Amino acid sequence: MTQAQWTKIRDRLKKTVGQNNFTTWIAPLSVGPLEDGVTTLFVPTNFFGNYVSQNFADLILHEMQSENDNVTRLKFELATPDKSAIPLPAPARPKTATAQPSNSSLNTAPLDARFSFDNFVVGKPNELAHAAARRVAEGGPVTFNPLFLYGGVGLGKTHLMHAIAQELHLRKPELNVLYLSAEQFMYRFVQALRDRKMMDFKEIFRSVDVLMVDDVQFIAGKDSTQEEFFHTFNALVDQNKQIIISADRAPGEIKDLEDRVKSRLQCGLVVDLHPTDYELRLGILQSKVEAQRANYPGLEIEAGVLEFLAHRITSNVRVLEGALTRLFAFASLVGREINMDLTQDCLADVLRASERKISIEEIQRKVSEHYNIRLSDMVGPKRLRSYARPRQVAMYLCKKMTSRSLPEIGRRFGGRDHTTVMHGVKRIEELKQSDGQIAEDLELLRRSLEA
Ligand code: ADP
Ligand code: MG
Repeated sequence: MTQAQWTKIRDRLKKTVGQNNFTTWIAPLSVGPLEDGVTTLFVPTNFFGNYVSQNFADLILHEMQSENDNVTRLKFELATPDKSAIPLPAPARPKTATAQPSNSSLNTAPLDARFSFDNFVVGKPNELAHAAARRVAEGGPVTFNPLFLYGGVGLGKTHLMHAIAQELHLRKPELNVLYLSAEQFMYRFVQALRDRKMMDFKEIFRSVDVLMVDDVQFIAGKDSTQEEFFHTFNALVDQNKQIIISADRAPGEIKDLEDRVKSRLQCGLVVDLHPTDYELRLGILQSKVEAQRANYPGLEIEAGVLEFLAHRITSNVRVLEGALTRLFAFASLVGREINMDLTQDCLADVLRASERKISIEEIQRKVSEHYNIRLSDMVGPKRLRSYARPRQVAMYLCKKMTSRSLPEIGRRFGGRDHTTVMHGVKRIEELKQSDGQIAEDLELLRRSLEA
């Protein structure tokens, strides 16, 4: 196996396994000699070797065979300094600073340069999260610890975290910033356990100045990882080091997370990224179009297309971005300007998926299921609180999620007057602010209706 062959194989593997897996599992491998059809791959630790051999061996072998059909088998061996393998270009270094030499073992997850504050569009739904992220990124005295960012998928949590890390790197290069996903935290912890390197592990994590852990819901139910996370967390808080956490829901709502971890996570500033609204989506689209212009000079977008997309694609920003990317690629391939016709053609599937109309019946059914009451009681005349509240919740959702008018909604709730509906909607709007349980119910119902 020559170095040129191995480099080609690595490139192909990168495409197949994705950047993250590649950086974690493939880049650290080095290839040794080929003897009697057996290729040796050098691995940094035994655990690493086992993992790669169980998860990627077939794939690696397959790629090797397509380069060199003498290869019949792979062998994994611990790398020792004197066993010189074919020298390889150094794997791309993560862009975050690992400023102090004592922490050179501290490999952070690579940061995405596109995820900067400059590229983050601020609107009402995310302004609080953005402001908090900005504050933390100044690297001044720690005022809230941890900063806990949460929100649904694709709303910009990872983007904000990368932006913080990059900003800190610019402003305070001397700080040791560690960004990683909760999954990577677990992986490193498990690896340290297997290799009996817990002391090193603890030392590394306790020596950072800023720790950022993305998607922390991942460690729920993983008891020993949670335990270790808890201790790391406490040690850093005690030293007054900044911690930034993200999750897909509020600390209190993460199932299988120990109470002491929950309460620790809650004791700083908890801010959420709300689902996008029309204005924010339009703003994001406009800013992404600017970015796309560079790739496709001369491509025109007809007025109204972005507004249409912002109106129709409400799920999350990732989908919105994907739609735009596809639109540009498609238009440039067929050499047409981006107008409504082309948009309808090119995005038919995306648009259909978001088209699904939600009916009043569906809402009534879901809400009565949620509160465990009968559908007949939901629309019936009884005024008991245990029926009236779910009824108001359902009315509220009908108003927000369908285009039905108040009188129409009233009719479908046992022939009630439109003022009754209006009152119900108002009441829920108030409760949403003051009653966490109602807010949570609404969020759950909305998600399940949209699913
Ligand atoms: P999450 O981590 O919350 O699932 P991401 O941070 O990965 O979401 O965001 C998904 C995509 O949407 C990314 O490409 C990100 O750049 C983009 N995005 C999300 N919110 C914004 C925003 N406010 N402005 C610009 N891009 C955004
Ligand atoms: Mg994310």
